Amino acid sequence: MAHVITDACVSCGSCAGECPVNAISEGDGKYVIDADACIDCGTCAAACPTGAIEA
Ligand code: SF4
Repeated sequence: MAHVITDACVSCGSCAGECPVNAISEGDGKYVIDADACIDCGTCAAACPTGAIEA
């Protein structure tokens, strides 16, 4: 189960640069995680200032 980014995302981009497999990209109004690429490491969740990334 990949991590997901909720509507609490403010599109700051902090998470994208932290992902070791480059699974995060800017979407429409919020950032999105490519579920097929995500390895569930949790690095992005720790980097998010609004707590928008959930396991
Ligand atoms: Fe990338 Fe890890 Fe976040 Fe998955 S959990 S999107 S691999 S940083």
